[in-house]
Amino acid sequence: MKYVVIGGDAAGMSAAMQIIRNDKQAEVITLEKGPIYSYAQCGLPYIIGGHISSTDDLIARKRETFQDKYGIDARIHHEVTNVDPNTKTVYGQRCDVNEPFDITYDKLLIATGADPLLPNWEGRELNGIHTIKTIPGLHSLIDDIGTSKKEVAIIGGGYIGLEMAENFHDAGHHVKIIEQGSQLAGVFDADMAELIHHKAKEKDIELYLNESVQAFRGTEKVQEVVTDKRSIRVDIVIVAVGVKPNTKLVEQTGIHLSSNGAIIVNAQMETNTKDIYAAGDCATQFHRIKQKNDYIPLGTHANKQGRTAGLMMAGIHRTFQGVVGTAIMKFFDATLARTGISEKEAEVLRIPYHTVKAELPHIASYYPTPEKMQVKIIYEAETNRLLGGQIIGKSGVDKRIDVLATALYHHMTIQDLEDLDLAYAPPYNMVWDPIQQTARRREH
Ligand SMILES: Cc1cc2nc3c(=O)[nH]c(=O)nc-3n(C[C@H](O)[C@H](O)[C@H](O)COP(=O)(O)OP(=O)(O)OC[C@H]3O[C@@H](n4cnc5c(N)ncnc54)[C@H](O)[C@@H]3O)c2cc1C
Repeated sequence: MKYVVIGGDAAGMSAAMQIIRNDKQAEVITLEKGPIYSYAQCGLPYIIGGHISSTDDLIARKRETFQDKYGIDARIHHEVTNVDPNTKTVYGQRCDVNEPFDITYDKLLIATGADPLLPNWEGRELNGIHTIKTIPGLHSLIDDIGTSKKEVAIIGGGYIGLEMAENFHDAGHHVKIIEQGSQLAGVFDADMAELIHHKAKEKDIELYLNESVQAFRGTEKVQEVVTDKRSIRVDIVIVAVGVKPNTKLVEQTGIHLSSNGAIIVNAQMETNTKDIYAAGDCATQFHRIKQKNDYIPLGTHANKQGRTAGLMMAGIHRTFQGVVGTAIMKFFDATLARTGISEKEAEVLRIPYHTVKAELPHIASYYPTPEKMQVKIIYEAETNRLLGGQIIGKSGVDKRIDVLATALYHHMTIQDLEDLDLAYAPPYNMVWDPIQQTARRREH
């Protein structure tokens, strides 16, 4: 059986590894348009802050490892431009030698990820304007930063924008965040986002909320960001305003795409076209709380979907059970975490809900250095079914959000939270865990 995988990162290589492990006769060809395989984009911001010393540390497995150790025909500089499902052929261009290629397949996986959006703002071709996605892209940003301290504008207050803001600040640069919405971290509710605004201001990060970028100005290099309210002086601009699935290559194939261009897949990662699968940031994810397809491009999902696709392609039945919307990030000494749906999302979905909130220490208050965390739980008004949770604090936020995520996965109620048998000793918790205490404070 001849398997072709387009995209040499999280989803694509998770799939390729499952194929070679489970089909000993497999011929696996992976086609990657860039020069590098399997690298952790999630670590890129921390290079800027100096917390990770080299982009080499971000490479999980080198192309040579895939080739020599696992026998995968892992090609670089191979960009696929279109797919013909009738003849089962992919067509593309070798970017290094500028020559066309075509390859037939028995089974095909599209794992092309998503690219950062760079809206058509006037002046966007000026030097000094960057998006964050690839290792070569990060090297070019580092070259642009040079050795002097810079005025850095981050456009977009989502998780990549916030991580970049923190890391530029840690490296001694002056940071300004421009966000067209009324709050940073739009996946949190406004009341929780206030804590994030407070943290940004504490770190001398300038916030320009409710401001839309119109253009960039400068001679060769960017010098100003022009918004609908003012002009902001800058040396470096990071655009982090979202991503677009890389699915142009299948636009003419009849493969079904969602409204944002992501490939619609079922729980087995199959598209509507026989023998063509898709996984990761280029595909949809089924949301267990919303009970419909969603688009939440994260590495955790890409790895799981890729693994599912690889097993299915190799003939082993597997189901991707979907996501509940869990995410976590560090913003200076704060940990921001969320799972399920927010109040905003519940309103859009017209689900009547209640919320309960509490500020609690993460361990016994008499044991050295308890730290406060804000816990918010959202639950369905009629049934008490858990809908979501948001936690902002320092230590211990990560384990509480994962308990909530597990509860959401199993469609538990807020009452069930109170009954969970969670670990307790003073250095680790209070007798009643903070999420249980929060649950107990709801109105009955
Ligand atoms: C700065 C940053 C921080 C992040 N932090 C987190 C985090 O903390 N937690 C988390 O869960 N996720 C995080 N993510 C998201 C995570 O990195 C992605 O969800 C994950 O990389 C998606 O994997 P993928 O394989 O679907 O796509 P990608 O990693 O995008 O890989 C797709 C590959 O396909 C190649 N390709 C595209 N088109 C073609 C073509 N036509 N022909 C051949 N090759 C092609 C691309 O070059 C690329 O190598 C972060 C992302 C970024 C950018």
